[in-house]
Amino acid sequence: MEDQDDVRRVLPDIRRTAADLGFALRNRVKVSLVHPSELGELGPTGARAYGLTELIVVDDRTAQATAVRVMRGLPADLFHRTVAHELGHAWLGETGRRAADAAVEEGLCELISYACLKKLGTPFARSLRDAIVNNPDPVYGDGFRRVHAAVRAHGLARVLTAVSTTGDLPGAGFP
Ligand SMILES: [Zn+2]
Repeated sequence: MEDQDDVRRVLPDIRRTAADLGFALRNRVKVSLVHPSELGELGPTGARAYGLTELIVVDDRTAQATAVRVMRGLPADLFHRTVAHELGHAWLGETGRRAADAAVEEGLCELISYACLKKLGTPFARSLRDAIVNNPDPVYGDGFRRVHAAVRAHGLARVLTAVSTTGDLPGAGFP
């Protein structure tokens, strides 16, 4: 993925998959490709993030995503995986509920990536999905497994309603 033409070619598919899942955005977010140095520091595992969502705070609960930045030069499948994840942060910003904890937020974003990769169906997409499922990280990996389990138990629609109204997964301590 080298330029905005590449982005324009694949972005509608990612938006559609996310919207079909229930992560439709009221405000369209611009996705642009940037140099790795524009994505900040290396994370605790030494892995640099591939994407970043810029949010502006609207009020004490709501944030609006203004832009998604993705590292230039990613293979298309990894671009899908990254943008899908960032659209989750944009959606959460619009819901007006802060997620109960980082694992719920990142887990939900990983779920969108997981679904987008399933649609791609390539061997590389499959390996990226396996990496999501087996990620040992307590926030991203455990978060995904918690959200995925909640979706299996309650259905995606109920999970999204719960997160957008309580900030947490169904049956996680809210009445
Ligand atoms: Zn994230």
